[in-house]
Amino acid sequence: MPFSQFAAKLAERTEAGLLRSRRQIDSPQGAHVVIAGREIINFCSNDYLGLANHPELVNAAQQGAAQWGVGSGAAHLLAGHFGPHQALEDRLAAFVGMPAALGFSTGYMANLAVITALMGRGDAVFADKLNHASLNDAVALSRADFKRYPHQDMAALERLLAASTAPRKLIVADAVFSMDGDIAPVKALLALAEQYDAWLFLDDAHGFGVLGEGRGTLAEFGLASKRIIYMATLGKAAGVSGAFVAGEQVLCDWLLNTAHSYVYTTAMPPLLSCAMQASLDLIEAEPWRRQRLAEHIAAFIAGLKDSCDLLDSNTAIQLVLLPDNDATIRIAKALFERGIWVGAIRPPTVPTPRLRITLSAAHSDDDIAALIRELKALMDM
Ligand SMILES: *Cc1c(COP(=O)(O)O)cnc(C)c1O
Repeated sequence: MPFSQFAAKLAERTEAGLLRSRRQIDSPQGAHVVIAGREIINFCSNDYLGLANHPELVNAAQQGAAQWGVGSGAAHLLAGHFGPHQALEDRLAAFVGMPAALGFSTGYMANLAVITALMGRGDAVFADKLNHASLNDAVALSRADFKRYPHQDMAALERLLAASTAPRKLIVADAVFSMDGDIAPVKALLALAEQYDAWLFLDDAHGFGVLGEGRGTLAEFGLASKRIIYMATLGKAAGVSGAFVAGEQVLCDWLLNTAHSYVYTTAMPPLLSCAMQASLDLIEAEPWRRQRLAEHIAAFIAGLKDSCDLLDSNTAIQLVLLPDNDATIRIAKALFERGIWVGAIRPPTVPTPRLRITLSAAHSDDDIAALIRELKALMDM
């Protein structure tokens, strides 16, 4: 069984312009990063508020390390649950307006936890086709029936719900779609969940910290229901790492007791919970970050809507659709040579190739102007 079989597959990917590789960054995360000795404007990270390298978070992490050490040493249910973990869960639950919250090491693991702990054989999960890969993986692992509806198509979702006889039903959607930037119709989703007695699971990886004055997509739309299970990650706008699930107390108790990706893994270092407290302080105290971000989004759309095929998005995630993989790679490469880093996202991550451009409060007006100018010039070529 030689591994060389994969060499041939990788060569095929290279041929199709689909080979993935990493770029090494030699500076902290930020609007500007150093790559191969050169300063680059970074439109690739999910650090929407510019908190990942904020001195107050760094200081909180350092103080946290001094007080609590580095490693948590065990899973939460053994000897790994520390004061900062508990304080953060309590604060996050209150912040998003839910009775309880449970912390996880990553959003990927939080999504695995929710879907595998709630759903099993014979149950049905109703999922938007463009949901994040972690949600899809979770459904496969749960063995529930997987009913996917076309992106944002509420009529199709309703048909699937109406036809289902599953004892337990769960509707799952990204609240803000990670590769499309659009927001799920959360009110319509909740109405359908109520009508067909389903639970509603929203993955707010890209809404938390940004929408609803930082409290996320539920707050943005004034949504509350005992049916809702809310998940947000802490490594994007919040600038740290990890994730949490929020909902009814009994839901969190059930996850804590049964979800393998909670039970069988070492707890996050408590110093990260300390850094997260500092992040929440800034998310609450500095609305100007969201204001800056909104200004950048508006400037980006105004500057490029006539020269680029933009997907319809009003969030920090902006997409420029391109005809094929080669064009996507060529333009991303040309931008990089001009000191601008954007994501070149291709199948199978997305159905059609596109540049994924993420804006941050940390960008300057000049950064946005440079992006618009260079992108325009390249599109005209
Ligand atoms: C990033 C992301 C996740 C995974 O979160 P991590 O903390 O990075 O594991 C889950 N869902 C969505 C929509 C995401 O964008």
